[in-house]
Amino acid sequence: MGAFWSAAADLVTGAACAGCDRPGLVLCDACRHALAPDPRPVPSVVPAVAGLGYDGVVRPVLAGLKEHGRWQLQPPLAHALAAAACVAAPDGPVALVPVPSTRASRRRRGGDPVGDLVEAAAARLRVVGLDVVVVPALRHVRRVDDQAGLGVQERGENLAGAFAAKPRRALRGRSLLVVDDVVTTGATLRESVRALRSAGLVTHAAAFVAATPRRHSGGASGPRS
Ligand SMILES: [Zn+2]
Repeated sequence: MGAFWSAAADLVTGAACAGCDRPGLVLCDACRHALAPDPRPVPSVVPAVAGLGYDGVVRPVLAGLKEHGRWQLQPPLAHALAAAACVAAPDGPVALVPVPSTRASRRRRGGDPVGDLVEAAAARLRVVGLDVVVVPALRHVRRVDDQAGLGVQERGENLAGAFAAKPRRALRGRSLLVVDDVVTTGATLRESVRALRSAGLVTHAAAFVAATPRRHSGGASGPRS
């Protein structure tokens, strides 16, 4: 058996849908359907839109891409991010500014799947004629703990002053969109907007693959996110 068929056999034998774990390749039709973008506004410091709710099949599919290296899951997630960016972006040239991944997560994942996802979303937006570039203008300036398991206030404290921004030439003449995979409390977005502002840059909007469903509704009167 040649190398190609051997790899194919590995894929077929014991392969399961990343969304529901039923036998199949990559994603079954039902899970693929559940990943169709459904952009929704996210209460935040800037106009923000998420392509999907972070529930149901979205959670295991994002984890499959990020934590298990299942790169075949990238297209539907990039599509959701592109749809969110389309809704969030003002007219004219746009720069997508990714929230930086930590060095620890890049090491654990053997790369930067979220950064790659942002590039894939930008490529989709260019295909439909939008003037979009990805500009990694944000970076970590100190170590932060994993946000998972932290409460709203702790998340904010964990991230306060964690990012710095570089006013890159590629940003000139473009509206800035901060982009990330999941928005939970909005602490990461707030820190991104703060760091960009400190560098003299205005964040126009933000776009996410998915947003954690809110337990409280009520917009500005709800809990700080
Ligand atoms: Zn499925």
